[in-house]
Amino acid sequence: MWTAILLSAAAMTGIVALRYLASSGAFAWLTHRRLPEYHAKLGGQIRKEIGWSLASAAIYGIPAGIVAWGWQERGWTRIYTQWDALPLWYLPLAPLIYLFLHDTWFYWTHRLMHRPAWFRAMHAVHHASRPPTAWAAMSFHPWEAITGAIVIPLLVFIVPIHVAMLGLVLLVMTLMGVTNHMGWEMFPRKLVHSALGGWLITASHHQRHHEEYRCNYGLYFRFWDRLCGTDKGLSKAL
Ligand SMILES: [Zn+2]
Ligand SMILES: [Zn+2]
Repeated sequence: MWTAILLSAAAMTGIVALRYLASSGAFAWLTHRRLPEYHAKLGGQIRKEIGWSLASAAIYGIPAGIVAWGWQERGWTRIYTQWDALPLWYLPLAPLIYLFLHDTWFYWTHRLMHRPAWFRAMHAVHHASRPPTAWAAMSFHPWEAITGAIVIPLLVFIVPIHVAMLGLVLLVMTLMGVTNHMGWEMFPRKLVHSALGGWLITASHHQRHHEEYRCNYGLYFRFWDRLCGTDKGLSKAL
């Protein structure tokens, strides 16, 4: 049993690491094509971003691997595989609930980590990316990585979700983590500046967090930032 759990954790770590290298690598390549100078003086920083991110891959992979094992072998979690196991209207609702709860957890832990003592201990690593690059997607100090790594593995015990919708949540999480740090906006200006854009976080919003630190704390949605008065709008640089 323990060997199987260990193998599952190791396999998941490998998957998270490859997912990171593929997604960050692809968007770093796009950045290079779009803004050839952006990475010019950031070689040392990028090496550190990759190092921290690969350490985070293990921290993300271990709880995910244990839960994946328990799901397969012990019937843990509320992940389901039959499309009609729950009403069909619930299918697209589940990922929204996941993203909202993840965002809520992120917003409040992120705000805490901007208190000076916590910042030095847990969050300074992430802000050492100045400006951030696509490689900074998982560049977190291990303590911060732990706060992020437990969210989805805990939620799957509480909120039912179809396995394909869980895949969608992980896809959104990965894509936004990478693109929010790459230094340019990939979404059309029209969308970013629309009424809907006023509620969504893309690179223009998160870049401002990396410029000014004490604002724009959210992950996917601007809901908490707007509610709590910490939303300072979009970066002028992008
Ligand atoms: Zn960031
Ligand atoms: Zn921060």
